[in-house]
Amino acid sequence: MDTLYFDLRDTRAIQRDRTEKISEAARILREGGLVAIPTETVYGLGANALDENAVARIFEVKGRPQDNPLILHLSGQQWLPRYCADIPPMAFALTRKFWPGPLTLVLKRRNNVPDRVTAGLDTVAVRCPNHPVALALIRELGLPIAAPSANLSGRPSCTTAREVLADMRGKIHGIVDGGPCAIGVESTILDLTGPQPRLLRPGGVPVEAIETLIGPIAIDRAVTAPLPKDERPKSPGMKYRHYAPRLPLTVFSGAPDATAREISRRMCPRTGIICFDEYKELFPYQEVRTIGPYSVPAEQARRLFSALRAFDESACTEIYAQCPDSRGLGLAVGNRLKRAAGFRVVESDTQRIILGLTGGTGAGKSTVLEIIEEMGGSVLDCDRVYHQLLDENEELRFELRRAFRTAFSIDGTLDRKKLGEEVFGKKDQRARLDRIVFRYLLPVLEQKIAAVSEGLCAVDAVNLLESGLDRLCDATIAVTAPMEVRVQRIMARDGISEAYARLRISAQKSDEYYRSKCDYELNNAADTRELFIKETRVFLRRLIDGLQEEKRYGAREKKKGRVIRE
Ligand code: AMP
Ligand code: MG
Repeated sequence: MDTLYFDLRDTRAIQRDRTEKISEAARILREGGLVAIPTETVYGLGANALDENAVARIFEVKGRPQDNPLILHLSGQQWLPRYCADIPPMAFALTRKFWPGPLTLVLKRRNNVPDRVTAGLDTVAVRCPNHPVALALIRELGLPIAAPSANLSGRPSCTTAREVLADMRGKIHGIVDGGPCAIGVESTILDLTGPQPRLLRPGGVPVEAIETLIGPIAIDRAVTAPLPKDERPKSPGMKYRHYAPRLPLTVFSGAPDATAREISRRMCPRTGIICFDEYKELFPYQEVRTIGPYSVPAEQARRLFSALRAFDESACTEIYAQCPDSRGLGLAVGNRLKRAAGFRVVESDTQRIILGLTGGTGAGKSTVLEIIEEMGGSVLDCDRVYHQLLDENEELRFELRRAFRTAFSIDGTLDRKKLGEEVFGKKDQRARLDRIVFRYLLPVLEQKIAAVSEGLCAVDAVNLLESGLDRLCDATIAVTAPMEVRVQRIMARDGISEAYARLRISAQKSDEYYRSKCDYELNNAADTRELFIKETRVFLRRLIDGLQEEKRYGAREKKKGRVIRE
């Protein structure tokens, strides 16, 4: 098949020439052909969306899995009711602000949208592209254009017509060249069919801009992490490895200085490098593609896919890439990079993060600590430091002996259990003990925390808040659980009676207390331990990422309230 080439790069081309080329391309579409079209995001492989056969050919040509639905490209929001049902008012608020532009909405479909387009789902994805040529084509056709990105399935998207030719020459009827894409990454996909708006794919419209308009949105887990094998993706496209160059790619995330250092440490002579402009000089002997300054993610978005493709024709054997942070378009750029790498990501951060953990007995603090250790973090067990101190510090023992005589035997050995009983349920005695102990313990703990130079450290302290240690933490987390669950757990764990379990719990501060005083709460109400572990991992990952960014950029506001749970 000959692939016709329509050059529409020159926006000042004489009107007649433009009109002719556009009506020719529209004619091909009307007759069931495939035409690659320029949009502001990436090039699209277009077909008449209402023509089942033409749509089927898109899947064939791309080698795209049948269950990965397409986006309908409309000429404006006035077309929404033709193809979508039950449109919430929020959809119009969004289209008014962001259309034409890189925001795709997932809405309930109407029956005139072919099953092939939606892959049989009862929802349809729609957007209005912000490119004069694409818009002129849709208007000329008078119908929506169904278009995935104009690359072979699994490959980096195309941001120039030349790249489309490389993948599609001879396979489709035409290519319309509208110049390089202004945005360079695909649209942001927002699902409006659930109880809360949900981000399915970060893209050309930053999450922050959407949240400014409609408030907090849920971020699908698949956006930042690979899907666990047993999990069903909300958007079928999330299942597949995407955007991949021919060479194996490794992504380095973290502060740019740290990632550059880590890349230099690990690279071999034939490692290709994708880096920010500022770091080019660090790799004089490597093949390097820059993607723009570190602080300009919009430029990185524009240049990323071409950089990935450029290595296809190199003598390199692998690619290492610096990952931007997740602010603004950085979220989309990082998402594409990580997917292109099949989630081979090296965390290169050396920032220290101190998390304070507290909560009553039996709620699940130890489980959370185990997860932190598994993530490579260290744990400062304040209780253990306290016990060591009791054994070693003569002055402390002397003061305690004066205050709690009965807990000591005649030869001066301390009976810790007795000491516990002395203060159990007695407020003023408890306060007295704390006062003495904190005076000795706090300087030791403070010193230990100060000695943590990098990485993650969890401070495990029942008295985190009362001692003031919380002030040394980057974030405090209360681990809580429903009363009955805690009773059962400590009965089983410590082999004690139900009455005693209840007594122990009631002698402690309430969940409400911890909840109100800590920055975050991990409520262990999950049905199973596995589920709690799973949720906690996701929570901690997000929290740590957020804290690291805060540290890097000195952002003040805490990211409280972001929806984390499914
Ligand atoms: P592409 O056109 O290759 O950029 O892919 C379009 C993306 O939109 C894919 O990730 C699809 O899974 C997603 N998508 C399209 N329609 C729907 C839908 N009805 N529900 C959820 N995701 C969709
Ligand atoms: Mg694609």
